[in-house]
Amino acid sequence: MNTGFVVGERGVFVFACDLPDYDRRIEAIRSVAGGKPIRFIANGHHAGDDTTCNDLFAEQGAIVVGSRELARQLLPYCPKRVQSELKQDRVKREYLEGKKVEMAMPAITFDDRITLELGSHVVELISLGKTHTPDTTIAWLPKEKILFAADSRHGGTGLPRAVSEVGDGASNGRRRPAF
Ligand SMILES: [Zn+2]
Repeated sequence: MNTGFVVGERGVFVFACDLPDYDRRIEAIRSVAGGKPIRFIANGHHAGDDTTCNDLFAEQGAIVVGSRELARQLLPYCPKRVQSELKQDRVKREYLEGKKVEMAMPAITFDDRITLELGSHVVELISLGKTHTPDTTIAWLPKEKILFAADSRHGGTGLPRAVSEVGDGASNGRRRPAF
């Protein structure tokens, strides 16, 4: 997992969140973003360390954005993950009970890439396809040259592919991978 959030004039973009980190994440967002709305949540891939907060953000009005492949992987995975979290008993049960898979699923999907306009910041989501799972997505801030490389560094060619996807932004030496 590779995680973080971006605060723009129009609201907040969240990249990946693991349920045990949810309370801390909300606190961090509020301390920086004040009352600005959480507009978008995206995931580096479908695994629980990235996606288990999707529905909690969606309930507050955030839009889950994900590649079609992520959606395909998440649909069967999500209910199983909720059951295993309930067994492990490591997060508040209210975050798991009555959970609807539809709320965790992307409401906007894309094939290759999509641009999210936050006002003062722009976030590009780029589907890399297969790294160690079939549905890796990276998030790239072209102006700031900040890369959320997600799990692309697992599985051999993922990180070089991530770097080549962001093009000349990567070759001018100002790119800052955020691992
Ligand atoms: Zn992960």
